[in-house]
Amino acid sequence: MARTALVAGNWKMNFDHFQATYFMQKLAWLLRDAHYDFDDAEIAIMPPFTSIRSVQVLVESENMKIKIGAQNVSEMSGGAFTGDVSAEMLEKLGCSYTIIGHSERRKYHPEDDVNLVDKVRATLAAGMQPILCVGESFEERRQGIELTYATNQVADVTRDLSAGQARRMLVAYEPVWAIGRGASATPQDAQDAAAAIRRHFAQAFDEDVANDVRILYGGSVKAANAMDLMAGPDVDGFLIGGASLDPEEFSKIARIV
Ligand code: PEP
Repeated sequence: MARTALVAGNWKMNFDHFQATYFMQKLAWLLRDAHYDFDDAEIAIMPPFTSIRSVQVLVESENMKIKIGAQNVSEMSGGAFTGDVSAEMLEKLGCSYTIIGHSERRKYHPEDDVNLVDKVRATLAAGMQPILCVGESFEERRQGIELTYATNQVADVTRDLSAGQARRMLVAYEPVWAIGRGASATPQDAQDAAAAIRRHFAQAFDEDVANDVRILYGGSVKAANAMDLMAGPDVDGFLIGGASLDPEEFSKIARIV
């Protein structure tokens, strides 16, 4: 079965809800002007929690087939967890995806594999799909262990899932050294990592699961390199940081994919 490409914009901690509304109005205008039909790929926006509702209102009022995701989710289902947001709350707000284990969260917050497994489970139980971020730092790349490193990160989080759960996963291969740097991995690097991650799903689960799992590339994607980075047969789209803050650039990437 053919996989639907996904172009997902991770806004990180940018845009208050007024700016989010302005962005979405501009994106709607740009896509309409380009006669974009939303058929070839899925587009998703991952705003900060505070702007999810504003984005959702604009998606509906502008009649755009755009999915919404959250940049993080609590592993807890509810209760006395000050500052946390549950998967169920996000699903009720219209979210389809959660980003789990982004390198910035792994770096600045105490997220370990146990948290990440529980976040994946909470996301799936709420009927959403997790986008698990993996990828090596410059040091692992220097040692030549980048593929093992990324597949081990996938294995650590997916090991105890059923095949039914695993096939609903998305993985974003995001080499840490390429995030926000202006210089992306090469198309061959992106394809090699995506193929290694897909092979891992085939070995750990089965070929059907491996064929269903969508694998994104992330790290300094822009309109100028998107076509080359999408060329690999195992690359199913992008998780985009910086370029997702510019509606013109983001809409150009969506049209390329
Ligand atoms: C990211 O943070 O997920 C990312 C890929 O950022 P950028 O596109 O800015 O490198």
